[in-house]
Amino acid sequence: MAEVIGIGIYALVAFGCAIGVSSRLSANASGYLDTAYALMVVIVLGGCIALNLRIHRIRARLQQQREALAQALDINRELATRDELTGLINRRAMLDLMELEHRRSLRSGRPLLLAQLDIDHFKPINDQHGHATGDRALQAFAGTVRANVRDTDVLARWGGEEFVLMLCDTQLNDARELLERVRLAVEALEIPHATGTLRLTVSAGLALHLPGDTVVHTLERADQALYTAKALGRNR
Ligand code: GH3
Ligand code: MG
Ligand code: MG
Repeated sequence: MAEVIGIGIYALVAFGCAIGVSSRLSANASGYLDTAYALMVVIVLGGCIALNLRIHRIRARLQQQREALAQALDINRELATRDELTGLINRRAMLDLMELEHRRSLRSGRPLLLAQLDIDHFKPINDQHGHATGDRALQAFAGTVRANVRDTDVLARWGGEEFVLMLCDTQLNDARELLERVRLAVEALEIPHATGTLRLTVSAGLALHLPGDTVVHTLERADQALYTAKALGRNR
């Protein structure tokens, strides 16, 4: 804005000087014509300045709108990939990540493991203590599992009280130990509620992803193992 006004003032002064010089050089200079020119310059310059200021305001507004749009897009992306309750990535984002890791493990030859986790007897928790307590239990569960796995392992909320854990570059025996550690940590978790504390247990099924297989099929195998864990009495 200051630049535009500066240029306007500079042009007016320059034009004034030009008129001054030309009236000194030319003997029969017409004062009326010079005044008319000067007036025209003032009007045109004023118009230009007003137009520039308007363009400046429009650009500022556009910039604001662009920033708001970028922010809204970020929020949308976050909502599309994250589970709001637990803060974990959701099923859709996990499917993409699993595909990526599947290709990576094909290239590197390093093992990829998938575990399906399901909280035991979760429905009675909701029924006895209310949905809000159930929600808090889900958050506590997610936090506990996250705290017991590596940063590079990915935990996703698959839906309801079901979770999927992806372990990259981990040997099967190490994965078993890790899941046992998770199981014990969940068992030790105490969730306070209105009339006492709540305890949870979890069952899990683990499957090693085989090269040439699909991640969806490996997940099905993990799910079958989970079903076996449930059938054998849960908390295992
Ligand atoms: P099992 O040991 O066989 O897994 O039994 P379960 O009761 O855990 O399994 P079931 O699938 O019968 O119940 C799952 C319950 O999870 C039912 C549903 O109300 C509850 N649930 C799913 N999503 C949410 C949620 O976002 N918040 C809360 N509070 N409860 C949820
Ligand atoms: Mg369950
Ligand atoms: Mg379930």
